[in-house]
Amino acid sequence: MRVAIIGSGPAGFYAAEALLKRTDTEVHVDMFERLPTPYGLVRGGVAPDHQSMKTVTRVYARTAARPTFRFMGNVGLGRDVTVEDLRRHYHQIVYATGNEDDRRLGIPGEGMARCTPATVFIGWYNGHPDYKNAKIDLSVSRVAIVGHGNVAMDAARMLLYTPVKLEKTDIAGHALEVLRQSKVREVFVLGRRGPEHATFTPPELREFVEMDDVDVVIDPGALAGCVIPETEGTTQQERNLKILQSFTKRQPGAREKKLHIRFLVSPTEVIADAEGNVAGIALEKNRLEVNPDGTVSARGTGEIEILDVGMVLPAIGYAAQRIPGVPYDEKARIIANRDGRVVEPVTRSVIANEYVVGWARTGPHGLIGSHKGASARVVELMIADGAGLEARELPGREAIVSLLRQRSLQTVSFNDWKQLDDVEVARGARRGAPRDKIVDVEAMLTVLAPR
Ligand SMILES: Cc1cc2nc3c(=O)[nH]c(=O)nc-3n(C[C@H](O)[C@H](O)[C@H](O)COP(=O)(O)OP(=O)(O)OC[C@H]3O[C@@H](n4cnc5c(N)ncnc54)[C@H](O)[C@@H]3O)c2cc1C
Repeated sequence: MRVAIIGSGPAGFYAAEALLKRTDTEVHVDMFERLPTPYGLVRGGVAPDHQSMKTVTRVYARTAARPTFRFMGNVGLGRDVTVEDLRRHYHQIVYATGNEDDRRLGIPGEGMARCTPATVFIGWYNGHPDYKNAKIDLSVSRVAIVGHGNVAMDAARMLLYTPVKLEKTDIAGHALEVLRQSKVREVFVLGRRGPEHATFTPPELREFVEMDDVDVVIDPGALAGCVIPETEGTTQQERNLKILQSFTKRQPGAREKKLHIRFLVSPTEVIADAEGNVAGIALEKNRLEVNPDGTVSARGTGEIEILDVGMVLPAIGYAAQRIPGVPYDEKARIIANRDGRVVEPVTRSVIANEYVVGWARTGPHGLIGSHKGASARVVELMIADGAGLEARELPGREAIVSLLRQRSLQTVSFNDWKQLDDVEVARGARRGAPRDKIVDVEAMLTVLAPR
């Protein structure tokens, strides 16, 4: 059976592993990735100070070393190949394209300079080629981050970190330079609902306890009405509340930097100064209302305050990007699917032999480890649906390679990637870092060009 997997993040690699480990069917996997580099958000999203998370790529490299696996980097679906091309050359297709769009606030002033989606800031400090030219100006002292998830917490931590601590990480060199000159001293993390509804996780919150030049500021009244456990707590919500409570009990310190965690506010406008730069953000205070189905929503009270900040980073979620020819669920903003089987978005009828895994299937929920089991479950469906499929005759295995060559594409193999990896690791060694990333696709391809 021949399978094309599109996207080389955790979900794609776990699907490949589950397919290649089968003993009942021989599966050949070709993994297409639009960048010359593999690993998706493990390389381009996970924060540089979370280096230990990135060692998971060793597991993916072991999958890539299997003889029945081929990596086809620098090949984008919808850009260089079409869904029709894939249908012709493979028995089954797995979309593992993640969530590369961000959700917008939809408020006046959102497009102005220094109102930058957190996606852009994160891609920029992680050396993602799409964001290498992002204009990140940290000459302001106060920044607002909208959203109460881990992405907001990552962005806050990176803004408040002492840059010297980041030198020994794989942060992009251009970001390190800008962070060294940063004037940011106060970060406001803003959530529309209460402390019990925040989606950041306790380890991310606890990291601020360990930042000895940062005071965490929370209005003690913000926790009124929350049921805070006596002990550490067992659920994520309880553990968050306990940590938040410990912040409120600390003396307001004289540390140089401050992280303000604010609840029950929604931005209504990004306010500009005379030059058109961010001068503040208008916030409407919210109250919580319980819906008939038991869920809790934030409703505006009409009371507005203006928070003086020089930069705004919306971090309110990601969405799957639309890929030509791939059915898209406009409401959920994911690839249209039922439990991983791709469906036609209106009729919901199954499109045979096409599957989706990872964030492209579910939206931006779940940590890296969660994809292992989830991708394996989709592979079970593929195997069940695919009985007898291998009898369908396809062009030879090399036909897709010829097609890419005819289109003058410089495909990056896994061995090519290893060459790039060696170059980055050697560059990083000069600053004592695990790697110094090449952030430009052309520069990567130049490294690999035959001399
Ligand atoms: C900022 C941030 C920090 C995070 N930190 C952590 C953390 O510390 N620990 C943790 O466990 N989890 C973390 N996560 C979550 C984790 O990164 C995700 O759960 C996981 O990466 C999702 O895997 P995926 O394979 O679905 O998507 P991705 O990792 O996004 O991979 C998708 C891949 O598809 C490729 N692609 C997209 N479109 C195409 C196309 N048209 N053609 C070819 N290729 C394409 C992309 O280039 C990418 O390589 C973080 C997430 C974010 C956003």
